[in-house]
Amino acid sequence: MTADEFRKHAHEVVEWMARYMENVESYPVKSQVRPGEILERIPPVPPAQPEPFSAFMKDLDEIIMPGITHWQSPNFFAYFPANTSPPSILAEMIISTLGAQCMIWETSPAAAELEEKIMIWLRDLIGLPAEFEGVIQDTASTATLAALITAREKASGFRINEEGAGSTARLRVYCSEQTHSSVEKAVKISGIGRNNLVKIPVKPDFSMDEEKLEKAVSEDMEKGFIPCCAFATIGTTGTTAVDPLRAIGEICSRYDIWLHVDAAMGGTALILPEFQWMLDGREYIDSFVFNPHKWMFTNFDCSAFFIKHPSLLLKTFEILPEYLKTRTRGLVNDYRDWGIPMGRRFRALKLWSVIRMYGVEGLREKIRRHIEFAAELAEMIAREPDFEVAAPVVMNVVCFRYRPAGKSAGEINGINETLNHRLNDTGKIYLTHTVINGHYTLRMVTGQTNVTMNHVRKAWELIKTTAAQL
Ligand SMILES: *Cc1c(COP(=O)(O)O)cnc(C)c1O
Repeated sequence: MTADEFRKHAHEVVEWMARYMENVESYPVKSQVRPGEILERIPPVPPAQPEPFSAFMKDLDEIIMPGITHWQSPNFFAYFPANTSPPSILAEMIISTLGAQCMIWETSPAAAELEEKIMIWLRDLIGLPAEFEGVIQDTASTATLAALITAREKASGFRINEEGAGSTARLRVYCSEQTHSSVEKAVKISGIGRNNLVKIPVKPDFSMDEEKLEKAVSEDMEKGFIPCCAFATIGTTGTTAVDPLRAIGEICSRYDIWLHVDAAMGGTALILPEFQWMLDGREYIDSFVFNPHKWMFTNFDCSAFFIKHPSLLLKTFEILPEYLKTRTRGLVNDYRDWGIPMGRRFRALKLWSVIRMYGVEGLREKIRRHIEFAAELAEMIAREPDFEVAAPVVMNVVCFRYRPAGKSAGEINGINETLNHRLNDTGKIYLTHTVINGHYTLRMVTGQTNVTMNHVRKAWELIKTTAAQL
């Protein structure tokens, strides 16, 4: 493709992109294809000869688009959002054009230094203490794994890196029953072992019961185990519960336990002064992750990882093969040492673009609206006698159930599951579920970039009428 042909096709693609944004509500939110349907429509072998760009675009529309679930639809209320925004998309276009691999400072000094500065912006925006340093990771799962491995090395005096798992007494790790599965995955991968992950029961508001944490830790100490790391969540995946950071932090400090905070979704709300209470006890935190790629309008992937003592992270991950030796080592941040992958994308550029083009007040305004929508939705649900709100509404998630009179608990679970599938099969909205105290519970997230109260109201009308027809 020549530069002129590229220019022509790029304009066509931008037109396609703008049309998509304008029409995103006309697609079924959740893709309605059956398993294997897309697979069958893709040719069994690649073309031997070059094809025109138009053929590619035609297949994009005809083969691929029916199999896309539209995360950028304002009628997407499922999981947690994976928001984009025009400023982020524009920056992504530039990132892909530059195609810089930003593993070390020398492979693009601007990428390293912009990342360093934007992480300072973000740290100050969410209210983490100034001693924290930040680095962008691909996902919260990776950041959490990096934190746990660092905690493991600290607890083992950096022995496990050298001698392997089994060179210390058993390490123990603590999280709540509501903690995201990425913690369990990290415990498996890190060599600590799932049997050493202690899941602490939660209180009625689904936040960790700190007394049970203290009990578990002291019992482990008596058995000769080494308490290594505790995970506190700001905004659990099920209900956005907030663990009591200060109480957990005091326990961690007393027993010399690494405290990692998973604020993958909820971290964005920390840009609001009225949500700073969630970070009370911040002085106890060792590491912290939140995902601008969820709620902060920045294209997936972009996960912000902060650590109080980066030297421990570096000591854990650093490796220096001959070909990566540079004259600037020690003077600059070589981010390949700050996590698992060596190669890194220039992700800071899209964060810079988003923060500048919304402005801090613009970001706050949108996040506040989303939180208000959830509160309004919860009020509407609470007013309906056949529905109930199933968990406290903290941020942008409303958990609720349809509970018509005269049905058993088992029947109600089945009814809610059917209701969820019926709603998603309409293609008009998409929501997912969780299980709370054994009950199948619907879960609606009002955090998509372009969601308005009108979308929420229409979704609620659809939920009520669909439920009435069951
Ligand atoms: C989404 C989520 C994760 C996982 O995020 P990834 O970036 O997809 O790895 C972890 N913890 C919580 C609380 C989450 O909501």
